[in-house]
Amino acid sequence: MDDYDEYIDNFSPDTTVFLSKNRAVNKEKHFSAPLVVMYNEPLLPDATGRLYEDSMDSEVSDPELLKEAIRNRETLIAVYPAIENIKTLSFDSIYSIGVEMAFGVEFDFSGPRNEDYQEIFMEARRRVRILNTFEKQGLHYAEVEVVHEPARRTNEVKSEIRSAKTSLAKLASMPSNLNRRKLDYVFEIDHAGKLADFIGTILFLSGQEKMDLLQETNDLDRLRMAHTKLVSQTRMMELDIKVLSSIHEDFDKNQRETVLREHINRLQVELNEGRSADPDIFKIEEQLENSTLPEEVREAAEKELDRLRSAPPLSPENGMISNYLHYLLDLPWSEETEDDLDVRKAREVLDKNHYGLQKAKDRIIEFLAVKSLRPKKNRLPILCFIGPPGTGKTSLGMSIASAMNRKFVRMSLGGVHDEAEIRGHRRTYIGSMPGRILQTMTKAKVVNPLFMLDEIDKLNADFHGDPSAALLEVLDPEQNFSFSDHYIEVPYDLSKVFFITTANTVATIPPALLDRMEIIEFPGYIEEDKIVIARQFLIPEQMLENGLDEEPIQFTDEALRLIIASYTYEAGVRNLEREIGTVLRKIATKKSEGKEFPTLVDAKLVSDLLGPIEFFPMTAEAKDEIGMATAIAWTENGGEIMPIEVLVVAGKSNLQITGQVGEIMQESAQAALSYLKSKQKIFEIPDDFFEETDIHIHVPEGAIPKDGPSAGITLATALISAVLGVPVNHEVAMTGEITLRGRVLPIGGVREKVLAAHRSGLKKVLIPTKNEKDLIEVPQLIRDQLEIVLVDHMDTVLENSIVGELKYQNGLRPSKKQRRKPSTKGETVEAD
Ligand code: ADP
Repeated sequence: MDDYDEYIDNFSPDTTVFLSKNRAVNKEKHFSAPLVVMYNEPLLPDATGRLYEDSMDSEVSDPELLKEAIRNRETLIAVYPAIENIKTLSFDSIYSIGVEMAFGVEFDFSGPRNEDYQEIFMEARRRVRILNTFEKQGLHYAEVEVVHEPARRTNEVKSEIRSAKTSLAKLASMPSNLNRRKLDYVFEIDHAGKLADFIGTILFLSGQEKMDLLQETNDLDRLRMAHTKLVSQTRMMELDIKVLSSIHEDFDKNQRETVLREHINRLQVELNEGRSADPDIFKIEEQLENSTLPEEVREAAEKELDRLRSAPPLSPENGMISNYLHYLLDLPWSEETEDDLDVRKAREVLDKNHYGLQKAKDRIIEFLAVKSLRPKKNRLPILCFIGPPGTGKTSLGMSIASAMNRKFVRMSLGGVHDEAEIRGHRRTYIGSMPGRILQTMTKAKVVNPLFMLDEIDKLNADFHGDPSAALLEVLDPEQNFSFSDHYIEVPYDLSKVFFITTANTVATIPPALLDRMEIIEFPGYIEEDKIVIARQFLIPEQMLENGLDEEPIQFTDEALRLIIASYTYEAGVRNLEREIGTVLRKIATKKSEGKEFPTLVDAKLVSDLLGPIEFFPMTAEAKDEIGMATAIAWTENGGEIMPIEVLVVAGKSNLQITGQVGEIMQESAQAALSYLKSKQKIFEIPDDFFEETDIHIHVPEGAIPKDGPSAGITLATALISAVLGVPVNHEVAMTGEITLRGRVLPIGGVREKVLAAHRSGLKKVLIPTKNEKDLIEVPQLIRDQLEIVLVDHMDTVLENSIVGELKYQNGLRPSKKQRRKPSTKGETVEAD
């Protein structure tokens, strides 16, 4: 926090908020800057204040300008209208003295808290004299000169300072709600003008009184003016205290303090025309008045507000209560958006933004249709979008929200380690706050947003507490009308929220949660899909992004195919989008440098711009090999072919497996071996063959199969090929689990697997008969180009994969000559 310390040194000792982003330090004495007209009472230099989104329009001329200034780390010139209701801004209609103002958003030690500009902090820096105003490109500017006030040390000034400080000391000795830290600091100031500004800031003055102080540029005159107000305010308080003390003489000291403080508070409220003196309390009161809260919540809030009013100012308790009230009141309790249930329009929106994804779109349309017919009765489904990264889960979620006219918020469960992150910490902890669910609801500002819970499959990893119980309370319609957050304490109703969760795999989703969700698969795209998505969506978007939307830039099919096959490795289109962006950015750079730039992106240009190829996809073997068969695995990135090698060497009946293997692969190997042994006679394998050989199975690393057993029949095929000494057809890929007796069991991920086989140039794919139904999901185009064979027994598998006769043809016993080092790197080992 060095930055912050330095900032504090430079500016106000009173900065109780951290102005994130805007640390703008302007050292110029004479400059021009955009101006903003402020309709509220002025801030004196070094004072801070806040603006709230709901009232911002009535307090400043141009709220957008403030946000811009925060983003650009600039200060603005705050000017104040000299006549009421000014219509057009002119030099004559504003006060001649304004302030240079910095704006920012609050942040705590973990970073910015309110990036959404709901609450903007401002800090008055230097007093400036407005020399001129002018307009440039639709913005009003002020030319200003910083009011220079050297510290004068004449006797007259010194004596006035001393006397003002004595009065301050008197004020400080009285029980009051003044800010003590500010008071302490004021005693150290020995600059008359500055002292005047500080006194002006800590007293409860009317807008006009503050304005008078701001406009007075003579330091001594200003201090006298401030001192007079100080004395009169002190006197008023004294009087009141006297009256009150006489009434409450019997009270003990503590009681008396409390009563006095309350009284003074009331007095200050009066001075401030009915507002509570403390801006924080005032803001809370106002918010409480204006919001429609459930009875229970209102009661809780009133109770806390009472506690806040009587808590000693600047005590830790005070801070905690006011924090709590802010969180409580910022939560949406009743605001909601109205659902748009127009089915035809929704379909249009969904189709406009996304190619394909028919199942997901249909389910949403169905839901909207039913809901429009039975608006009250229909429960919200909890959808779970499952699929590899970049397949459009999030962006479809956003489209659904926009089609239904719901607000969209999301929160990721990845990296969440503690139940308290979901449910919040109890208020007894310092720095506690609500959990992320309710924080996200606060962002939504309505009770019925579309709420996307990402990475629900990443929840289990080293989690403290019970994550699924906490999430059940969030998702389960039986429970979520009264979700309990440890911090907020009052139950919160999540039942109007439309939850959509996302995950890469169902395997690691806690079963209790899985039960309550409706799975919609986002299976990943084939090359043809990707080309369409690139043409219709990714390229136009990236052109716009890179300022090339006016240019006639075209990508050839070859260029897109090259990017897809050699620069990305994914089932989705996220990297494709990124690489297209890279190509276009490089073209945009040429354009902006005024150089000639290409408008036709072909394969050559792609490889020029993107550099060396990044991915070499596994391709089919070039020729038939003994002891080598091709499996297809299903990975997080989609499907992937995976060669499996088996080597038989002289030995003592050891079975060794290396490479990418799990326990399941071991089991498959045992099953394959048992099957082979049961066929020993038929295949004419010598009696003592298995006793006198070692079998080495290697599964190359790289592909991380999610479903180990599906390599079962491939393993058996490679094993039989190695033992018998007959080759396997290199154009065949296969997937299926094997039993001890050689039956073939069904597997998952058929679509991805068939696509992977096709992509890798294989010609024939063997899949379990029981998986026939899944073939509907394989695009016709692909089915036409592949021979797909359904298999239910090892016998059929071998018929379709082994080249030549199924008989022991090793000739000799496995000899020393055949013995080779097993590969460890995963490249394929050529059999002899
Ligand atoms: P996920 O949430 O599944 O990881 P995203 O929703 O972030 O994926 O998608 C990544 C990018 O790909 C987004 O820009 C998205 O718009 C685009 N995209 C993905 N699928 C499609 C599709 N079917 N049609 C159009 N754009 C898509």
